[in-house]
Amino acid sequence: MFDVARSEPEHVTELRRQLRRFVAEKAPRERRRAWDRAHTWPRDLYGELAAMGLFGLTVPEEYGGQGRDIVAAVAVIEELCRAGPFLAGPFIHCAFYGGMNIAENGSSGQKSELLPRLARGELLFAYGLSEPDVGGDLSSVRTRARIEGDAVIVNGAKRWCTGADWADYIYCLVNSDPNAPKRQALSFVLIPARAPGVTTTPIEHANLRYTASCDVHFDDVRLPLGAIVGGPRKWNRGWEMLAGRALDVEKLEISAVAFGIAQAAMEEAWTYAQERVQFGKPIAAHQAIRHKLVTARTRLEACRLMLYHAAQLAHDGKPCAAETSMAKLFIGDTGVEIALACQQVMGAYALSDAYDMERNVRDLLGMPIVGGSSDMQKNNLAALWRLPS
Ligand SMILES: Cc1cc2nc3c(=O)[nH]c(=O)nc-3n(C[C@H](O)[C@H](O)[C@H](O)COP(=O)(O)OP(=O)(O)OC[C@H]3O[C@@H](n4cnc5c(N)ncnc54)[C@H](O)[C@@H]3O)c2cc1C
Repeated sequence: MFDVARSEPEHVTELRRQLRRFVAEKAPRERRRAWDRAHTWPRDLYGELAAMGLFGLTVPEEYGGQGRDIVAAVAVIEELCRAGPFLAGPFIHCAFYGGMNIAENGSSGQKSELLPRLARGELLFAYGLSEPDVGGDLSSVRTRARIEGDAVIVNGAKRWCTGADWADYIYCLVNSDPNAPKRQALSFVLIPARAPGVTTTPIEHANLRYTASCDVHFDDVRLPLGAIVGGPRKWNRGWEMLAGRALDVEKLEISAVAFGIAQAAMEEAWTYAQERVQFGKPIAAHQAIRHKLVTARTRLEACRLMLYHAAQLAHDGKPCAAETSMAKLFIGDTGVEIALACQQVMGAYALSDAYDMERNVRDLLGMPIVGGSSDMQKNNLAALWRLPS
């Protein structure tokens, strides 16, 4: 294991120590392999993480959390990813999709009802943004919501809605008027995942197999007006929420997953290369291998600096749209380079499930796509830096 000494607050370093012990003891490779095969995650360990108070890291103290500590929450994702996505994924569904979004965008009623439960790890959210015909172009979502008296009626379909089959709520982006100018008819609504009219169908996929992502259909789903995120006065103001601080933090959360998994891949290859002997010496003594390892570790250090620089800005409430986009772009793309280099270091064993490498490669290949693709980050940055379009 690599040293965790960092220029970071002592409580974050202490949290890392605790989580490294936790992961090493409770999430050994055999369990990780079994979770991956079954597309599932461990409810028992989730409960233990909740008992440690980790889910309060994105919730203000007045609602029972520990105050919003974005650097610590990002470090939690990084450390949990040493076990793959099986613990980090559910942590994100509660602390980020739930806690972070409701703290940022919820009405006072939603905050007092949901945040204390989120801080205790009692509620899980799924993200309903993508649709069958909508990926990066989220302002074009077609899932339709209309207000009828004191109800919101939702019809439409979401795709890749990870965890919709076990989440309590779907944090869902909807359109109230397909003829309105782009971005001006978008809202978020909180849809109880088992409300009448909601059906979910799992999708088979190769990466992030802590669960199945789902196709979700909404057929005249009837919600109270209180289900509009931010309350009725935020109707049609969803774009602000999507493009605001919550998005900055979402880019960080995916970057932390990519970084944590890339680090796990590099550490596995590093250890393997010292144990595997070919031509009379450890393969780490062959220049082609040692150079790959050293390059991967150097790239990881660059990723770490970008990630925590952006996280610190977000934590301090400073503008960080560019830094979070750069981190998502760089870490997503660099994670793929690290994955492929580490895979080569481990030769045939990187393709067998005797090691974590084949799962880490699968997960890292998806990172430049999910949560805003690398191309979309480049578009964001070009716009932020005012290049002509
Ligand atoms: C395992 C998994 C879990 C997921 N979980 C969720 C979830 O929980 N909730 C959710 O809402 N979504 C989820 N997603 C969806 C994910 O966020 C989308 O895949 C992502 O937003 C990209 O959309 P897309 O794949 O449809 O690509 P598209 O938007 O169709 O893009 C395809 C390609 O074209 C490029 N491209 C598109 N537009 C442009 C442009 N303007 N300029 C340059 N290049 C462009 C893209 O970069 C990409 O390379 C998940 C996906 C996976 C695989």
